This record gives sequence, C-alpha cells and structure tokens, in this order.
Amino acid sequence: MDCWVCERTALGACRFCGRGTCREHAKTQPFVFDVFRGNKHQMLRALVVEDALHCGVCRPRGDPVDLPELE
Ligand SMILES: [Zn+2]
Ligand SMILES: [Zn+2]
Repeated sequence: MDCWVCERTALGACRFCGRGTCREHAKTQPFVFDVFRGNKHQMLRALVVEDALHCGVCRPRGDPVDLPELE
C-alpha cells in the first residue's frame, strides 16, 4: 500500500477511511472505537483512541453521531 498523498510506501492505514499514509502525511484524530452502555447509569459511553492514524484527506465527523438503531 502506498501513501494516498505522495505515493511513497505507506507506514499505516487511516483509521477512518482506510487510505494508506506515510509518516510525513500521517495525522492523528480521536477515534471512537467502541460504544457501550455503562451498567451504573445506563448511559451510552464511548471508548476513544486519542491519536488514531488519520490520512489528513478524509473528514471524519467531529461531533458524535446519534445511533438510534442501536437503542
Ligand atoms: Zn505521503
Ligand atoms: Zn482517511
């Protein structure tokens, strides 16, 4: 896999869209990797990776998205 931006060998894949990215073009973004309901307060909680690999090209949503189908 090559970097989406400069076409050199990619060091990793964007967590959000799957594009390859090299060290130079890699950025980081918080990434919600799991959502669960706390057993104490019955609230939906999210586990977040603060510095997930981001290609800098795609635009992950900054705001939480409602997931009514999981209710
Ligand atoms: Zn690159
Ligand atoms: Zn991306």
